[in-house]
Amino acid sequence: MGNAVDRIARPWGDRSPYGRHEPWPARVDTYLTDGVEPGSVQKWVQSASILHSDGDAMDIAVVDGRMAGVRGRAVDRVNRGRLGPKDLFGWQANAAADRLTRPLVRRDGRLTETDWDTAMELVAARSRELLKERGPGAIGFYTTGQLFLEEYYTLAVLARAGIGTNHLDGNTRLCTSTAAEALKQSFGCDGQPGSYDDFDHADVIALFGHNLAETQDVQWMRVLDRLEGADPPRLVCVDPRPTRVARHATVHLAPRVGTNVALLNALLHETIRHDRVDHDFVAAHTVGFDELAERVAGCTPEWAARICDVPAARIAEAAEILGTADALLSTVLQGVYQSHQATAAAVQVNNLHLIRGMLGRPGAGVLQMNGQPTAQNTRECGANGDLPGFRNWQNDAHVADLARVWNVEPSRIPHYAPPTHAMQMVRYAEQGSIRMMWISGTNPAVSLPDLARIRSVLRQERLFTVVQDLYLTETARLADVVLPAATWGEKTGTLTNADRTVHLSEKAVEPPGEARSDLDIFLDYARRMDFRDKDGEPLIGWRDPRAAFEAWQRCSAGRPCDYTGLSYDRLRGGSGIQWPCTEQAPEGTERLYTDRVTWAHPDVCESYGKDLETGATSSAVEYRSLNPDGKAVLRAAAYVPPHEMPSERYPFQLSTGRTLYHFHTRTKTGRTPQLDRAAPEVWVEVCGADASRLELVEGDLVTVTTARGSLQARVRVSDIRPGLLFVPFHYGYWDTKEGNGPGGDEPGRAANETTVTDWDPASKQPLFKTAAAAVTLVARGHSACAPAPTTTASAPAVTGSVPATAGGRAAYASREPGQPARVVPRKGTP
Ligand code: SF4
Repeated sequence: MGNAVDRIARPWGDRSPYGRHEPWPARVDTYLTDGVEPGSVQKWVQSASILHSDGDAMDIAVVDGRMAGVRGRAVDRVNRGRLGPKDLFGWQANAAADRLTRPLVRRDGRLTETDWDTAMELVAARSRELLKERGPGAIGFYTTGQLFLEEYYTLAVLARAGIGTNHLDGNTRLCTSTAAEALKQSFGCDGQPGSYDDFDHADVIALFGHNLAETQDVQWMRVLDRLEGADPPRLVCVDPRPTRVARHATVHLAPRVGTNVALLNALLHETIRHDRVDHDFVAAHTVGFDELAERVAGCTPEWAARICDVPAARIAEAAEILGTADALLSTVLQGVYQSHQATAAAVQVNNLHLIRGMLGRPGAGVLQMNGQPTAQNTRECGANGDLPGFRNWQNDAHVADLARVWNVEPSRIPHYAPPTHAMQMVRYAEQGSIRMMWISGTNPAVSLPDLARIRSVLRQERLFTVVQDLYLTETARLADVVLPAATWGEKTGTLTNADRTVHLSEKAVEPPGEARSDLDIFLDYARRMDFRDKDGEPLIGWRDPRAAFEAWQRCSAGRPCDYTGLSYDRLRGGSGIQWPCTEQAPEGTERLYTDRVTWAHPDVCESYGKDLETGATSSAVEYRSLNPDGKAVLRAAAYVPPHEMPSERYPFQLSTGRTLYHFHTRTKTGRTPQLDRAAPEVWVEVCGADASRLELVEGDLVTVTTARGSLQARVRVSDIRPGLLFVPFHYGYWDTKEGNGPGGDEPGRAANETTVTDWDPASKQPLFKTAAAAVTLVARGHSACAPAPTTTASAPAVTGSVPATAGGRAAYASREPGQPARVVPRKGTP
């Protein structure tokens, strides 16, 4: 234990300072369960993390057929051996005593154990019935950002060409659909332009609504290491909370929630006013500059200051840092994506890079981040929104090409309208046109907005609900059929992180009981449904993950996310590899758009764009006339105020969000002792001035109410901006008496009791940041304190006023300096 660190108390561990343009030093983090020494590990099995989108490469320790710990992979480009708290401890949830081990079916109102054949036959029989009686539109699939690529691709084929439904979406709709939409709007196509290596080269790093320290904690370690090395970067942070990022920032802007477009327009205004524009780049690679300049002409810092409630001088200071950077890296996440005018704001970050020519070279890049480990795969495989391989549903040639890959008639692939988004599917289920919903690896009874409504939709008799999960989640408790799934470590597949790095995750141990991989479940269903191609052969011809991966490679060939140069063997042993990976780029592709914008041409683009205010899709003709040569599009947007503003009755703005120690609805992290103890219960953050005005103190129990519903939580007095409340969204009901909601007169616990049914017009991402809310005292805390971590953005305003978060001995993880990273110099790397 000599070199061990409590990684709950010190989530980011020790520093390994390094200078600009130097390789990030390796550091190997290891956590082995009590009683297991490195020498007693029988095998190490290669994998990567699944509790965030960073893609931290790790090996799973196996002892006597059970997982016994994890170790970072020093050779990997993403994390160089480092692991965050969720990586280190989260695997323990795989062995939770309440894992589902047998299928369940509802009989006489109760979920009862059964065998696979009975459960799957029930699902197939209901599917056949609905297809006959109502057609494919009666069936919807709602998946996740946590399965493997092979599973999404199989699901996409069976849903789109097997069933023929347009209703297939992922919970990535709540998480990264704005990232995808912003990339499509600006570059014609999804695909992250930047690379994590840009953290090593940037002189300015700007984080827009992105609490990097808690969402991609290992990349935050990278930033912290650079901040302690030679020639450190300057940070610009836009966040209404006092995050760790904000505390390290050169300039921290804490705007009023819902005003991102106003702020970004002012930053663009300043950039243009000071002529910090790369005119050659703009002329060669973009369209729309004049419209953008005109739109932001009146958006002075003083104008934005009034809207955003941020000093004009600080906006000007941030603009100067951004405008004088020689290598600017920007990252964007939920503070933009889940907020008002989500796509419009995310696109303005792209615009900033385009007009400054900050793209396609070391340190100059945009990371429109993902949240989930396999969100990128959901998107590229066509399980979230668009057609597989980033094909354009409006382009008949793309649909025909997909039909060729699947050997079906193009008419079999629904493309009469944009693929249905999750919130629309809920609406269809509510109205009764969707009669069967198959939910895999996600928990909408906690994660979707306005939970009272969601529960009432899922409880409908006429809706046949299939849930495929690891545990009896809040959603599973409302299902007609529950299918026990195997998870990470119990199955093999690939996953692609937010900077396009593909990792292989191999099966380390057997799943519990009769649980099956999601791939096996989908393949079983496809066999029972007897889906055929146009020659009468099985539509889905593969039987295992490797063959599914190869099928995907054929589908991705020639598209931006081309996987044809990859294989399971190539992904074994070394580092993950970034797509596109082809014969021409066998080592993968570090950055997109190094010499030009390649996928915006009308013939190849994934999308013709949408109106940012209404979401109306542009036609091929409109797009071709706007952008005949396929350049990046500078799309301007006017600021419009949020739909729900504070009022006398609801005087606060309410933002929901995440904490470092949990993921999603706590299904895994709530079953991990170290993580659960660090943040065991919901809380609400209030600033000191608001707390004194309401005569509230740390630990008081309050009700937070909006027009939709309410929840109870203890108060954390923090340095959050005045007028704003923050509630973490992880807490649901699976570990309460009721199990799936606030029973009887019980108070709510889930943040989404209060959130609104509203979404961004372009990305259709629900809004979780701008509800109007009231706070009322329920009971005095009498010196209790909020169950909120002190190590994160929820730290108390007065340091030391509450006990510090610590994990103790159970959270000790070791760290060793690793071998220097194997850095392959690439063209253009200084
Ligand atoms: S916690 Fe948020 S950012 Fe993270 S994966 Fe979930 S929805 Fe995405």
